[in-house]
Amino acid sequence: MKIKVLGCSGSELPDFHPPAFLIDEGILLDAGTVTAALDEDSQSRITHIFITHPHLDHIRSIPSLADNMLVKNWKHKIVIIGIKEVLKSLKENLLNNSIWPDFTAIPDSKEPVLRLKAIETGKRYNINGYSIIAEKVKHSVPAVGYIIKDSKGKSLLYTGDTGPSSDLWKRVNSEMKNTAIDGAIIEVTFPNRMKELAIKTGHLNPALFFDELKKLKRLPQKIFITHPKPQFSKIIIPELRSLKIKQITMLKEGKTYNI
Ligand SMILES: [Zn+2]
Ligand SMILES: [Zn+2]
Repeated sequence: MKIKVLGCSGSELPDFHPPAFLIDEGILLDAGTVTAALDEDSQSRITHIFITHPHLDHIRSIPSLADNMLVKNWKHKIVIIGIKEVLKSLKENLLNNSIWPDFTAIPDSKEPVLRLKAIETGKRYNINGYSIIAEKVKHSVPAVGYIIKDSKGKSLLYTGDTGPSSDLWKRVNSEMKNTAIDGAIIEVTFPNRMKELAIKTGHLNPALFFDELKKLKRLPQKIFITHPKPQFSKIIIPELRSLKIKQITMLKEGKTYNI
């Protein structure tokens, strides 16, 4: 499984962009940075977008991607997948014919550019040869993480934004009975000294992240860190290093990782 990092930051600054991960070629996890990072051909190969939650930094490339598809008159459509609360918010607050045109009815409601597909937590869905399960995490709005397995049996966990939680880790333990998950993209947003703010806003710092890992029966083979605030990365990176977990990698935008 190839993971191309289009964005992996918890704030936007030059060279630091909101989260989006392209899995192989067709599946996107979150859509914080898409159209500014992928050329038109690559954009046209996207078939599904899995959204973790409706915060703007995770959805804000959806409007420009829909617009590009319409301009290009590309034949294929994109399916946006999420729990119903997330899709409701997308429809009411973004694709609402005020902030942006409703691309779920453009060019017409029978063959729209974007389709929304609601999924339930804890249920397995087979999409384009991938098996995908969503499970609840603890954030300031309804939010999920995803467990994705490809046809070769490789497995990836993506937490999206989360504070200390339990459901997602339990789901990983029950899904991965005898083996460790191959890769895990886990958020760490704040440094240790900002623990109160992290918990209040539904995020992790290195110490809280370490406590979350203890909830897993087996450590993932590779652990990728996403969503740090770049303003604090000089503090967060040494704090993560001091945990002495050898499989931790700080994700870099524009890079592709293999699991
Ligand atoms: Zn968020
Ligand atoms: Zn975020």
